[in-house]
Amino acid sequence: MAFDLVITHGTVVTADATFRANVAVNNGKVAAILNPQDAPEAAQYLDAAGCYVLPGAVDAHVHLHMLTAAGIYSADDWRTGTKAAALGGVTSVVDFVQALPGQTSMEALHQRVDDARDAVIDYGFHMTIHPDESPIAGVNQRVSDFRISEIRLAADAGCPTFKMYQAYTGLQIQDADLFRALRAIAEVNGMACVHAENGDVIQVLRDSVDAPADLTNGLLHAQTRPTIQEAEAVTRTLACAELTGARVLIFHISCDLAGNVVAAAKARGLSNVFGETCPQYLVFTDEKLARPDGRLWMCAPPLRPQSDQDALWRKLKTGVLDVVSSDHCPFTRAQKDLGATDFRRVPNGMPGIETRMGVLHEFGVRTGKLSLNDWVRVCSTRPAELHGLQSKGRLAPGYDADIVIFDPAERKELSTSALHSALDYSVCEGMTCTGWTRDVLLRGNMIVRDGQHVGNTGDGRFLKRS
Ligand SMILES: [Zn+2]
Repeated sequence: MAFDLVITHGTVVTADATFRANVAVNNGKVAAILNPQDAPEAAQYLDAAGCYVLPGAVDAHVHLHMLTAAGIYSADDWRTGTKAAALGGVTSVVDFVQALPGQTSMEALHQRVDDARDAVIDYGFHMTIHPDESPIAGVNQRVSDFRISEIRLAADAGCPTFKMYQAYTGLQIQDADLFRALRAIAEVNGMACVHAENGDVIQVLRDSVDAPADLTNGLLHAQTRPTIQEAEAVTRTLACAELTGARVLIFHISCDLAGNVVAAAKARGLSNVFGETCPQYLVFTDEKLARPDGRLWMCAPPLRPQSDQDALWRKLKTGVLDVVSSDHCPFTRAQKDLGATDFRRVPNGMPGIETRMGVLHEFGVRTGKLSLNDWVRVCSTRPAELHGLQSKGRLAPGYDADIVIFDPAERKELSTSALHSALDYSVCEGMTCTGWTRDVLLRGNMIVRDGQHVGNTGDGRFLKRS
């Protein structure tokens, strides 16, 4: 039989193995993994000599065109954000739905799916479970029975993963509601994704800062979010996970203490507990916050000292941490400057949707902290498994032909002009990666060729997950 496409001369890297093979594609799916000497008939061939052939990366934690409480939007929309993702080897993202006041979560989901129509790669959504709007500003209200009842509706609509925040006024969820939600999530066999920080403690610490010199000292951003409060929130969430049996992924673990809580839970045999970290915690330290423009590196949880970074790499290698997501949440220099005289007004978040694969290859694989297979596991295969993207994350017959041709010799500078986010700066300015994405196939169609986007607006599809 003739295939639509055969990728030849490449080195296939999966989560388990690295081997020479030709990859055949038919009707948008991986059709066969062939011996390198087999040269079957095909309508097209793609020569991957000298390159790795990888399953398309899955970034299950991004914030595109996100409205913040301060009334501003994250700087990348669905077109710029997903194009940057594609150029960095990402073929699927999972973003968030957050109902506006007066809106049901399902109405909000339909609006977000419509919002994403320009996406150039595939996309899904986590539903955010948050308190119903409070009549009193600054008071954390309860989550209504109605919102809890929407958990089943969301799961049936292909969104079986649920974001909850233990910090941020307005979003912060009380323990009773975390527990109620986890019980309902367990019933639909979904998964909770939790921003684990102790919002009450953070609020008191931040309110205690008043000296003008402190308000412009970026290090105070980290000091008012100490590691022990993060670890405490993880502990509380995992206790609820154990009691309810709900699957829980702790988002963006930034420090050793918080990672240790996940490690201890796993060591006790809890199979419903998972951990995520992000590239920023693996390559930057809190030294960035001491810079005059340190606000560009402000995210929550904050960047930590070198010892935490070293511990996170070890926890990634040993599987205590399951996945690396970008938590791409870009704000322009002008948006970040809203906090120029008070760090508490800086919108939290950093870019990373385009650089995650390259940065992990450079600082993980090339330094020997991760194997090529670890890299594929944490960026692609495990995220797809955990978040229920059943046709993604593997190079095997029957899976979507989301395929990345990665050239390990390509030199890429991570300067503002070399990246494709709408941002007017790069947090990675001055860094160079050896190894970058050359070509990308989305369901068998070439959307990136020789480092250029050649796909079309709207190529992406909404992914119903299970
Ligand atoms: Zn996030």
